[in-house]
Amino acid sequence: MFQFFSYTTFSLYLTLLPHLFPAKTTLIASDLSPNATWNNFVNFIDAGNGANFSGMSEVKKYFHKFGYLQISESDVGDIFTDLFDDSFESAVVNYQRCLGLTVTGKLDAGTVTQIMSPRCGVSDAMITNLTDLLHVAKNYAYFYGEPRWGRSAHMTLTYAFSGDHMIDYINSSDVRDAFHRSFSRWSAVIPVNFTEADDYSSSDIKIGFYSGDHGDTVPFDGVLGVLAHAFSPENGRLHLDEAETWAVDFRSSKSKVAIDLESVATHEIGHILGLAHSSVKGAIMYPSLSPRTKKVDLKIDDVEGVQALYGSNPNFQYSSMIESNISSGWIIINPLNWLTYLVIVSGVLL
Ligand SMILES: [Zn+2]
Ligand SMILES: [Zn+2]
Repeated sequence: MFQFFSYTTFSLYLTLLPHLFPAKTTLIASDLSPNATWNNFVNFIDAGNGANFSGMSEVKKYFHKFGYLQISESDVGDIFTDLFDDSFESAVVNYQRCLGLTVTGKLDAGTVTQIMSPRCGVSDAMITNLTDLLHVAKNYAYFYGEPRWGRSAHMTLTYAFSGDHMIDYINSSDVRDAFHRSFSRWSAVIPVNFTEADDYSSSDIKIGFYSGDHGDTVPFDGVLGVLAHAFSPENGRLHLDEAETWAVDFRSSKSKVAIDLESVATHEIGHILGLAHSSVKGAIMYPSLSPRTKKVDLKIDDVEGVQALYGSNPNFQYSSMIESNISSGWIIINPLNWLTYLVIVSGVLL
């Protein structure tokens, strides 16, 4: 019933240069995403309710695929029409809220840019209902049923890399080191250890690079677009799109579409643990990432989310988290965090 909640995908967000916003004609689609279908969405900038453009159905398919739009009465059978109708407007509004965009209900330039940016949508369904989100001041989300690994207070999960599905242009040791660091960030905040195992088939977490249709009903789509996906607990599969230009060091990877492996790994491990996407742009669990960008530090939203599932690592100190969040410029929006911060500061001052 909630089949699409069983996995998530990770995609990247391509930063739009500010000067590109106002002028439709200067928006260079190929610079935003090489995904051919999504490139065409640039033609729908400024479309709003009542608009009827050939090809709009593809945008609807996108929203449907990513959990924002159901087939409406004005659509014919199970085929979307090209009409920008009320249900699509609602979907656009939800999308804009979930992605932290200005809510206009139209396909404005900023929205189209985000839509064209390669990204995952399935797990966004977890954050489309934001009714109480602002009131409870939390932005992380879980998969349907809030699955997690085991129930013991302390646990060790094993992980292994597929022998048949690795990339050859990055040293295996560099790939493993990147994942080791990614796992360590999560284990630093929860009482869960991760250990690399030799036996892939019996490991809890199975990591590999795959291309196109690779047998799990969620085919990858080539360069950019969807970058990776991971399954919710206790499945353990973590798949990366082999077609991406993966990088562990941008100094040696000059491609403008290079994707930081460690950043994606850290995000996907969050899914492996049971976190869905966050609506906090700075959070690791936000569903998109700019190319040639390294984003590996957990934010308070990530930590709160995963600790609500597993509890806190006894050695974890919130003060270091708050300091790192402040130093990185992340804005604390959770009143509880402010309270914690004030208590800590007061303690220091006293
Ligand atoms: Zn994701
Ligand atoms: Zn897969």
